[in-house]
Amino acid sequence: MTSPRPTGSSVGTSTSWEVVIGLEVHAQIVSNSKLFSSASTQFAGPPNTQVSFVDGGFPGQLPTLNRFCVEQAVRTGLALDGQVHTVSSFDRKNYFYADLPTGYQISQFFHPIMTGGHLDIEFDHGESKRIRINRLHLEQDAGKSFHDQHPHKSYIDLNRAGVGLMEIVSEPDLSNAEEAILYLKKLRSLLRAIGSCNANMEEGNFRADVNISLRRPGGALGTRCEIKNVNSFKFIQQAIAYEIDRQKTLLEASQPVVQETRLYDPSLGETRSMRSKEEAHDYRYFPDPDLLPVILEPSWIEEVRASLPELPAAKQKRFMETYGLVYYEAHLLTEDVSVAHFFEDGIKHLDDPVAGPKLLSSWILGDFFAKLNKENLSIDASPVTPSMLAALISLITKEVISGRIAKEVFIHMWETQKDPLQIVELHNLVQIDDKSLIQETAEKVLADNPDMVAEYHQGRDKLFGFFVGQTIKQLGGKANPSLVNSILKTLLSADRN
Ligand code: ADP
Ligand code: MG
Repeated sequence: MTSPRPTGSSVGTSTSWEVVIGLEVHAQIVSNSKLFSSASTQFAGPPNTQVSFVDGGFPGQLPTLNRFCVEQAVRTGLALDGQVHTVSSFDRKNYFYADLPTGYQISQFFHPIMTGGHLDIEFDHGESKRIRINRLHLEQDAGKSFHDQHPHKSYIDLNRAGVGLMEIVSEPDLSNAEEAILYLKKLRSLLRAIGSCNANMEEGNFRADVNISLRRPGGALGTRCEIKNVNSFKFIQQAIAYEIDRQKTLLEASQPVVQETRLYDPSLGETRSMRSKEEAHDYRYFPDPDLLPVILEPSWIEEVRASLPELPAAKQKRFMETYGLVYYEAHLLTEDVSVAHFFEDGIKHLDDPVAGPKLLSSWILGDFFAKLNKENLSIDASPVTPSMLAALISLITKEVISGRIAKEVFIHMWETQKDPLQIVELHNLVQIDDKSLIQETAEKVLADNPDMVAEYHQGRDKLFGFFVGQTIKQLGGKANPSLVNSILKTLLSADRN
């Protein structure tokens, strides 16, 4: 762990500015029912079919806290290495909006369930920076308004009203768009690993508000703007770039940045003012009289901690130490739990515990991922299973086939789901290890190319690769490459004498 980078990116010309970013993430809890009612949380159900009287704000209805949602918030808080509080409570955040039938959102303002966590983001080559997390609190989601279904009517769908959210608030420790995106990806990977949130931006269950300001390097924090609900990494990047420019222009013209909530419009590539920033007192927060405080037993919190699965950061470290992978490989293999599981399932079936894992890693990240992407398949839907891929790797490490032939076998395996050895036999792809045959072929290649041999002897070392390639090609691509190499070396040095 290295210390944080000393400064953020400088965006000034004559005089430089430092960018300061803090993120508020709304992560929807994976649960069957809502935070305070038994209505279903199923995504994309017919409008207004998953609304209980509590969610609809009917008078006299009482909320009942969903224990499972509390547990998910505790798991997440612990995974973020925060302090989970034995006492937390719910408050009413009052505001009027059509998608909020009660006229208030139940949230945790005064006593959140967790404070003081952190997430370490990593740059290439493993350099890292700690981003502090101010708090994680539980709250309800609002319903959804549709303004584009009718020329002069708006529609409301309350299916989402009352679904449990975890709001995860970072300290303003991020210094540019790259860091903001690394943070969000890291958080997404963590939430998915523990299963508390699907963290799918397109389905709207992982939404980020971006707070951004500029300041003189090392100076006091500047006035921030908050960009609401930017729903893709690309738009977050664009919104930040636009906002940096806008604020810089204002500041350099000695004009104030107004603290406000802004909206990013992807079609224009601009942010525009939505409303001036409300202060906490505008919401007239007060403790919700319908709900008791949440009291957690310390021993239960410890049980939950002990039951957490291995987290991505720990997995990444273990992959590097156990399998000799470099940071980049371990990072890509552990970002998504299903990929990590695929890799470790494959490991179990390998023949060579030393060379195998590295080769398996590069196959997964290379040909295998390329094929999944091309076919637009998730790893769980892959026709090639971990044991099949491991069997292919074992054929390479046992020198039955070359890496080059393995690419061909892989394609057959993908299409037919046949065992790789069966494919090798069926297509007669077994590696040629016959030294005299290789020698004969290599001699012929050299004899056919006297000019190149001469050039090679004059110092064009690169031509060696050409001779190797030609020899392998003449043997139908099946010649053992290391034998071809050594035989050609011997022939060429004998030739020189
Ligand atoms: P509010 O509740 O009004 O949104 P908070 O103080 O809770 O305000 O901060 C919300 C987010 O804004 C946090 O992620 C925080 O890190 C970030 N933030 C606070 N001050 C600044 C600033 N000057 N520049 C950029 N981000 C900031
Ligand atoms: Mg806010």
